[in-house]
Amino acid sequence: MLHPHSLYYDHLKPAELDFLRQATAFVAREVAPHAAEWEEREELPRELFTQAGRAGLMGMLAPKAVGGQELSMLCYCLVIEEIARHCGAFAMNMAAHNALCVGHPLGYASDELKRKIFPSVLNGDWMVAWALTEPNAGSDTGGVETTATLRPDGTWELNGHKTYITMGLHSDRMIVMAVSGRDERGKKEFSAFWIETKDITPVRKVPTSGVRASNTSEFHLRQVPAELIGARGKGQHAALACLDGGRLGIAAMALGLGRAAVAIAQERMLTRQQFGRRLADFQALQFKLADCEVELRAAEALLLPPCVMHARGQKFSFEASVAKLYASEAASRAANTALQICGGWGYTRDTAVERCWRDARLCEIGEGSSEVQRLIISRAVLKEAEARCGLAGAAPGTART
Ligand SMILES: Cc1cc2nc3c(=O)[nH]c(=O)nc-3n(C[C@H](O)[C@H](O)[C@H](O)COP(=O)(O)OP(=O)(O)OC[C@H]3O[C@@H](n4cnc5c(N)ncnc54)[C@H](O)[C@@H]3O)c2cc1C
Repeated sequence: MLHPHSLYYDHLKPAELDFLRQATAFVAREVAPHAAEWEEREELPRELFTQAGRAGLMGMLAPKAVGGQELSMLCYCLVIEEIARHCGAFAMNMAAHNALCVGHPLGYASDELKRKIFPSVLNGDWMVAWALTEPNAGSDTGGVETTATLRPDGTWELNGHKTYITMGLHSDRMIVMAVSGRDERGKKEFSAFWIETKDITPVRKVPTSGVRASNTSEFHLRQVPAELIGARGKGQHAALACLDGGRLGIAAMALGLGRAAVAIAQERMLTRQQFGRRLADFQALQFKLADCEVELRAAEALLLPPCVMHARGQKFSFEASVAKLYASEAASRAANTALQICGGWGYTRDTAVERCWRDARLCEIGEGSSEVQRLIISRAVLKEAEARCGLAGAAPGTART
């Protein structure tokens, strides 16, 4: 049987394969043995991020010129998948960090700001959070109410309320999306800002169902000094562009969680006896495994086109939505099936299968919910159909992600 990844390895450079091997060894040594304990404590240790930075995991997509690893999107996704097999919370943190917290300033910050923040954001010295979501702004990013005000001395200050922010209260620095003014038609102008986390007012670590070890945070911004990232008014465009890569990371995370859950179920089927036979001998369960395998392979196959397009410098938003939507729902289904195969034991916290199931669920919500992905996909195919049919018409609405 062909290993599902073996074809992908042909797309990796020798140095990328080496990195993947080293990352796999890092995860086996530093992450896998502690994931259950971190879940119990609902916290990832700070040293883990320092170690990850030193191992290159916090600058996977950044160019070597700024201290990054300059890996392809495909190699990055394979690393995220590998991390997720052992710890969904850490995989989510690494995915958010690389795609959003590094990707945003890398693509849009001034050279002066880049000099200030690189390589600290890549080598584990600084943890960074990326804050878009607010109580009234989730799928609809236009609902952002945090304001950025230009002070008389030419500096900016932020006031507002952010929630569900990964690594928020544990971070050292943050990228914050805010309303920096209105255009001539009264429409909100969005900009991105760089702030120091010490200046925020913490509210709480949000108690999540899955990814419990991740610091999902809520906080206020009260007269927080801020530095503009890139051009004023271009924050939303930059945020949405970064989310394309972000979605591929979430798709990869979902795949790792689905694979991990199914691996546990397979082992259980081979070792557990009922009615004098192994669970593996019951066709009803065998067929469940077959369905999981096909769906996870389909999800893997959907991840490749956007990665290739990224390598070619092509826009891959549509393909990222397709990959993220399918992988997150397939992984959730696979983890749910795996839990069912494991029976009562699967529902206990004695096994990681229930953790994978809870963690996979997040992938259907974060970085654009499944419904938002369906909006993006359906609008694009309708727009194409309009063009094909020679019918004029604008695609409806705009939304996150
Ligand atoms: C663990 C975790 C980590 C997160 N990390 C971050 C982070 O680091 N930074 C950050 O900025 N945000 C983060 N988020 C926020 C996340 O991106 C949002 O939760 C997500 O975008 C959905 O927004 P919402 O929760 O406000 O849901 P809502 O927008 O309130 O949506 C509720 C439901 O309605 C559906 N819906 C909404 N609009 C439509 C529509 N037009 N058509 C059909 N259905 C619709 C949604 O799909 C969803 O099912 C995180 C969230 C979680 C849970």
